[in-house]
Amino acid sequence: MSEREAILEIRNLKKSFDTLEVLKGVSLDIKQGEVVVIVGPSGCGKSTLLRCINGLEGIQGGEISLRGEIISNQTKNMHLIRQKIGMVFQSYDLFPHLTILNNILLGPLKAQDRDKKEVIKEAEDLLKRVGLFEKRDAYPRQLSGGQKQRVAIVRALCMHPEIMLFDEVTAALDPEMVREVLDVMLELAKEGSTMFIVTHEMQFARAIADRIIFLDKGEIVEESDPETFFTNPKTERARKFLNVFE
Ligand code: ADP
Ligand code: MG
Repeated sequence: MSEREAILEIRNLKKSFDTLEVLKGVSLDIKQGEVVVIVGPSGCGKSTLLRCINGLEGIQGGEISLRGEIISNQTKNMHLIRQKIGMVFQSYDLFPHLTILNNILLGPLKAQDRDKKEVIKEAEDLLKRVGLFEKRDAYPRQLSGGQKQRVAIVRALCMHPEIMLFDEVTAALDPEMVREVLDVMLELAKEGSTMFIVTHEMQFARAIADRIIFLDKGEIVEESDPETFFTNPKTERARKFLNVFE
């Protein structure tokens, strides 16, 4: 694993909101094909970290780069870099007035200027893979939460991102819909997608992760393979955090 190239590099990242220091010098690398899961208490800075990676937040120190290109809200070509980062949030933000297929086509056609026939073929293939081909002409309101989240994942994938960021994508779903979304993510991981995932689903984290990062109060407190993290955490803070899920 160590000889593989880092896709994402984060060095000593500092992020504050006014006087509130949210990220206090976070450093990490994600390599091609690696699945990194970040866990930690509510408010510890997980979403903020993902938003910084996506260039949605200005930062106060350190550096983030994607394949050597610096990510910052000052970067001229940020819209191009952002296309290489697929992001799926807790709330599925599909456009309500567009069909499922058109929701997926929008980015590749408008932002990437790709060939329409080719993108439709790809979108349909992806929809088949997540079991939603027959919903291609439906509107978002006609889909369940789990179905909408699977569409949101397909929409991000269709942009051919270098890395996929997932921020608690199952947190707003009814329990019976959680599995169908997690299964899609497990499939992607198996196929070698590079993924950075925030989740509270600990069994899922254990199953999918190559590496677990435990973030607490804006600092990486622990970083290990899932087996070690879940069976034998190194720090008292991680042990306390994990106790809540038992
Ligand atoms: P997590 O995703 O781990 O629950 P967040 O990254 O959402 O945590 O939030 C980390 C901290 O930053 C929290 O204290 C939160 O209230 C604060 N925060 C997040 N976004 C903003 C914002 N836009 N303005 C001010 N404070 C914020
Ligand atoms: Mg969050």
